[in-house]
Amino acid sequence: MSLLEVRGLTKVFNRTVRAVDDVSLTIEEGATFGLLGESGSGKSTLARLIPRLIEPTAGELYFDGRPLHNLRDHEMRAMRERIQIVFQNPFSSLNPRMTVRQLIGEPLIIFGRATGSALDARVHEMMELVGLPIEYLNRFPHEFSGGQRQRIMIARALILHPRLLILDEPTSALDVSVQAQVLNLLIDLQKRLGLTYLLITHDLSVVRYMCDQAALMYLGKIIEWGTVDQVFHTPQHPYTQALLADIPSTDPDQRMLERISLESDIFSARWNGHGCRFSPRCPAAQIGACKTSDPSLIPTQAGHRVACHLISTDSATS
Ligand code: ADP
Ligand code: MG
Repeated sequence: MSLLEVRGLTKVFNRTVRAVDDVSLTIEEGATFGLLGESGSGKSTLARLIPRLIEPTAGELYFDGRPLHNLRDHEMRAMRERIQIVFQNPFSSLNPRMTVRQLIGEPLIIFGRATGSALDARVHEMMELVGLPIEYLNRFPHEFSGGQRQRIMIARALILHPRLLILDEPTSALDVSVQAQVLNLLIDLQKRLGLTYLLITHDLSVVRYMCDQAALMYLGKIIEWGTVDQVFHTPQHPYTQALLADIPSTDPDQRMLERISLESDIFSARWNGHGCRFSPRCPAAQIGACKTSDPSLIPTQAGHRVACHLISTDSATS
């Protein structure tokens, strides 16, 4: 059963910037859905649209079968306990004047869920869960390492018992050696708490390590989506193919450490709004349709979807 379903989600900023452009996806309960995209492709905007921290321009959202897009403010507020976001930067997102006890307990206070000894007990429980020593209860954020600060962020997100955790580049700001520890903590927490993850990253190796499903976002749109096996072993979109061809072969034990950036400058041309949004950078764009219409995401085989005229022409003629 799908926990989250997004249909035609769109966000236009300043009347012209289509940061998220007609995105549809579903995330099954208990799954880890990896969303990949280079900087500026709309990942963080999509993350904020789901709990309606920003309002969509168009589209529908369903959580556990319930529509979220037409909930009133107070109803949506209650739903936000079930959908939490962990943001990328644990340095700027923690109030420097609050102790760990206050930071982790704050969501319970904001939502009026606990006070006094019940609050303290929950904070202790969360610190244990994320591997923070209880002795650090009264310390301030600057006394912690990057990895520990991200553990504080995770504890804050989990204290409300969410079902869906949106992780927006949760390890991008961390040293390589610490990234694996935080990712392994997330894997462990998912098993123990039965969580569903939307994991946003620009790191292909993180998706391969952590996720069941992988989707690639390009200029606000999903251009390929399938199981991790499908996307990594039989990539169909020229963009995905180019990215994967760029991965150096490494020792499998080191794959957690390989940092594959989509922000590579092998691609540089800009889209003018006509034809396929990837056509200016596409090594394969060669049929007329590539220059005249933007392809939709269509299924090519069970669970695998691609937005590419070359692929849809192939399957239509074979
Ligand atoms: P990503 O997280 O993939 O790097 P973002 O969602 O942050 O991408 O940004 C997608 C696009 O939307 C970018 O072009 C960005 O400049 C634009 N954008 C994001 N937030 C705003 C905003 N609040 N106002 C105007 N433009 C925005
Ligand atoms: Mg972002």
